[in-house]
Amino acid sequence: MFPTAFPTAIAGSLPKPAWLAETQKLWPQWKAQGAELIEAKGDATLLWVKTQEDLGLDVIGDGEQARQHFVHGFLEQVAGIDFENKVTMGIRNNRYDAQVPQVVGPLRLKGRVHALEARMARAHTKRTLKFTLPGPMTIVDTVADRFYGGGREGKIKMAFAFAELLNQEALALQADGVDIIQFDEPAFNVYMEDAADWGVQALERAAQGLTCKTAVHICYGYGIAANMDWKNTLGHEWRQYEKVFPALAKSSIQQVSLECFHSHVPMDLMALLAGKEVMVGVIDVASDVVETPEEVADTIGRALQFVPKMKLIACTNCGMAPMNRDIALRKLEALAQGAALARQRYA
Ligand code: ZN
Repeated sequence: MFPTAFPTAIAGSLPKPAWLAETQKLWPQWKAQGAELIEAKGDATLLWVKTQEDLGLDVIGDGEQARQHFVHGFLEQVAGIDFENKVTMGIRNNRYDAQVPQVVGPLRLKGRVHALEARMARAHTKRTLKFTLPGPMTIVDTVADRFYGGGREGKIKMAFAFAELLNQEALALQADGVDIIQFDEPAFNVYMEDAADWGVQALERAAQGLTCKTAVHICYGYGIAANMDWKNTLGHEWRQYEKVFPALAKSSIQQVSLECFHSHVPMDLMALLAGKEVMVGVIDVASDVVETPEEVADTIGRALQFVPKMKLIACTNCGMAPMNRDIALRKLEALAQGAALARQRYA
């Protein structure tokens, strides 16, 4: 698929320029409205496509410039959701409170969700194009249910309803020319039993019929304070992946993006993903300290004990949306340089 070993990719989101939205926020306010905002979103997408190419990244993304938040950006185009009356809800097992919209009726797409930025990115790069969507389980953890009856049953029903809508948009993105469709499922690391029990199945429903590559990103969240506090409670070894990876290994999803550098994830857990391409997180998005190319290459070298050379993609641990733009740039530079160094060392 790739001309080189250790191709480089971003997990998904990139910082929004200050002229597009508030900076360093997870739910930033847009700086423009209407047609002007649509134009600005397209401009920012183009800017990041060009920047990623210039830095030498192999898999290009839209940087999620056209969505306010990785989950709510999708929900805004879903009928049956009340965005006017948001409620406060503890999300990710009450790790932090978020203002979330409410599901109040049958769910259906109002139209295309991400056509603008997908087509903008496709028109401006010939490299492999990856596009991200939230996964069904993470969506149902980021929206309030006033329609499906709540409880475990309601949650599962709602997740599969969202999976159908995600599938519609994913098929349309594939038709737009996207090469890899990635579903973001940070909730898999919070509800591990549910993830193995029905989350992976819902994910496969969302990916049904896709002939492009499919991927899932599972992480410990953005570098925000609530996540840092949570990570401090997880102990010396983070073994969440151990419960989810076996179910994923059996699934039809082809790539798995995981958190690695600076995390307490035991590296040998990657061996549970036999047969999959693994996007190894070699850049810590929760720290402003920029990695050196040597550190990046070292992480790749350690991961090579558990992931075959031709299945290892060097990636960021998670999205960079809430980061300082300049630091994010320098980290992406380190990612590209580190992967190049790893090619010299190990390829
Ligand atoms: Zn993430």
